[in-house]
Amino acid sequence: MKNSELDNLIICHKCHTLHEKVPLKEGAEAHCSKCDIVLYKNDKYVLDRTLALVITAFISLIVAFEFTIITININGLEQSLNLTSLFIVVLENKQYIVGIMLLFLIVIFPFVILISMFFLIIYMKMGKAEYLVRRILILLAHIRPWSMVDIFFISLLVAMVKLFDVAQIELGVSFAAFILTLFLDAIITKNISFYELWEHHDKIYGANNA
Ligand SMILES: [Zn+2]
Repeated sequence: MKNSELDNLIICHKCHTLHEKVPLKEGAEAHCSKCDIVLYKNDKYVLDRTLALVITAFISLIVAFEFTIITININGLEQSLNLTSLFIVVLENKQYIVGIMLLFLIVIFPFVILISMFFLIIYMKMGKAEYLVRRILILLAHIRPWSMVDIFFISLLVAMVKLFDVAQIELGVSFAAFILTLFLDAIITKNISFYELWEHHDKIYGANNA
């Protein structure tokens, strides 16, 4: 089978039914005939919307890291927790490997992902830098599973629940920013999948010039 023939087929990633692709009208979605999930859609504003979401998520992640997450008060002894104070505690306890892991998993990777998405979409919209766009897509596929802001936040919630009995806890600005960041991240993922990013890549630069 030739490549172009294969390009016209799409497999449902839920039930693995094979479908033939048909051109869609603007704003339309193609659903799986068996399980009804969305296979692909024709939405010309999807890149603009994703770009806006990525910029907002970037700002909210900076706020999440910059300000106080929670303030813990145990018998009048008050302690504010933010990302810098967290790293100081980790380093004071000489947990260097934990520190480096934290730095990558909850700071560097999430920022690299958002910055990569930003340039990816800007270049795609201009139809330029095909090689770089390809590289960014491959990079994203590799580091996306390693962004663990969500796990960090859940651990924080678990710790808070344990502290409820012994301490007074006050939520800071960063706490809301974390929720917003995770919410935006979920919307970005729902808005555009990897498959769709590659589809846009192929549509903009042509599929056969690899
Ligand atoms: Zn299906």
